Amino acid sequence: MTKTAEIVVIGGGVSGLSCAYNLAKRGVNDIVVLEKGYIGMGATGRCGAGVRQQWGMEENIILARESVKIFERLSGELGFNTFFRQGGYLLLVFDEREFELVSKTVPIQNRLGVPTRLLDTKEVADLVPGINTDGVLAAAYCPTDGFCYPYAVLWGYAEAARRLGVQIRVCTEVTSVSPVGSGRYEVVTPRDTYHTPIVLNVAGARTKDIAAMLGIEIPTEPFRHEIAVTEPLKPFLDPMVISLKKGFYFLQSVRGEVVGGIGDENEPSSFNTKSSPDFLFRYAAALREIFPALGKARIIRQWAGLYDVSPDARPILGTVDGHPGYYHACGFSGHGFMLSPIVARLLSELITAGSTSIPIGGLELSRFSEGSITKDPYVVG
Ligand SMILES: Cc1cc2nc3c(=O)[nH]c(=O)nc-3n(C[C@H](O)[C@H](O)[C@H](O)COP(=O)(O)OP(=O)(O)OC[C@H]3O[C@@H](n4cnc5c(N)ncnc54)[C@H](O)[C@@H]3O)c2cc1C
Repeated sequence: MTKTAEIVVIGGGVSGLSCAYNLAKRGVNDIVVLEKGYIGMGATGRCGAGVRQQWGMEENIILARESVKIFERLSGELGFNTFFRQGGYLLLVFDEREFELVSKTVPIQNRLGVPTRLLDTKEVADLVPGINTDGVLAAAYCPTDGFCYPYAVLWGYAEAARRLGVQIRVCTEVTSVSPVGSGRYEVVTPRDTYHTPIVLNVAGARTKDIAAMLGIEIPTEPFRHEIAVTEPLKPFLDPMVISLKKGFYFLQSVRGEVVGGIGDENEPSSFNTKSSPDFLFRYAAALREIFPALGKARIIRQWAGLYDVSPDARPILGTVDGHPGYYHACGFSGHGFMLSPIVARLLSELITAGSTSIPIGGLELSRFSEGSITKDPYVVG
C-alpha cells in the first residue's frame, strides 16, 4: 500500500526512537519509524551505554553536558526506569602525554560546568579498592558521568513515542528512498511505500547506504567492536574505568556483571559482528592486569557491534544542500548512545523550527569537503 507520513524515520536505534519522541513532543502528529529488525538490533542494543562528559573539544563537552542533564531526568520524563547510574567515569592516566592532556582539559571541562577533578594514585585506590595502580600516574574523575541500561532507554523512548502517536514498524527494511517531485520522498519497504516531505536517516552503520540511494556520499566506515560480560558479582565498583592509551573500559552493571571491552587498532573496516577468541584473551588480560581479583571472574557472554566511524570520530548531523527535507545523524563512533538525548533535541528543533538552540554547524556533512577536521583526543579505541 502507498501511505503518507509527515516524517519517516529510518532506524529503530536510540537515535531514531529519541528523535521520534522529541519530534512528537514538539507537535508532529504523523511520524513513522521503520526498523529492519527489532528495536535495538543495531549498535544501541550491543553498546556499553556509558555516558561521559570528559572530552577534549569544547563542542563535545557541551553536547555531553547537555545530554547528562537530560539523562538525569529521563526516567521521570519517559515514565520508564532507564537505570541511569551516576557512578562517575575514572579515566586512568598512564604516561606524561596523557597527564599533559588531562591537566590541560580538566580546567576547560570545569569552566564549562563539568565537575571533573584530577586524582593521585592513592585517591584512585581509595575510589576503586582492588585496582592495580602500577603504571598509573593519576586519573581524571567526573562524578556525574555514568551509564544506563541501553534497552531500558530504547524501550522508554519507544513507549513514550507510541503514547504520542508515533508508529514504530519493526521487521520493515527500507529498500529504496527516492525523490518523487513536489518536495516529497518515496520510501519503499517490502510491506508498504511511504510518501513524505521529511526523511530522517538514522540507520546507524547503514546510514551511508540509505544516503547513497539519494546520491549523498557520507564518509563513514563500520568497525567491529567487541564487548563481554562476567557473571554477576557483589557490588564493588562505582565508576566506569577507562584508558585512552590502552583502549579498555569496564563498569559494573546494576545486576553486578562486569561489562567492558577493548579496542583493536588492527581491526579492518567491515560489517562483521562475529565474536572472536582474540578479543576475549586481550580483554581478559587487560582486565586482570588492572584489576587482579577479576582474574577469577567467569565471563559468561560476549558479543560484537559496529561503530559507525566518521573521519574525525564526531557525529554527522543535519541537512544536506540540494536535498530539502532530508536529515541525518550518523558517524557517532563509540559515543552515539551518550549523545542521543541532546542530538534528538537539536534535530527535532532543526526539523520543526529550522534552527537549533546549540549550534551544530561544525557537525554538518559539509565540513569534510571544506577543509581541516579535528579529532577529539579523548576518543577511545
Ligand atoms: C560494543 C559497543 C560499545 C559501545 N559503547 C558505547 C558507550 O559506552 N557509550 C556510547 O555513547 N556509545 C557506545 N557505543 C556506540 C553506540 O552504540 C552508537 O553510537 C549508537 O547506539 C548509535 O545509535 P543509532 O540509533 O544511531 O544506530 P543503531 O543503534 O545502529 O540503530 C540503527 C538502526 O537502523 C536499522 N537499519 C539499518 N538499515 C536499515 C534499513 N535499510 N531499514 C530500516 N532500518 C534499518 C538497524 O537495524 C538499527 O536498528 C558502543 C557501540 C558498540 C558497538
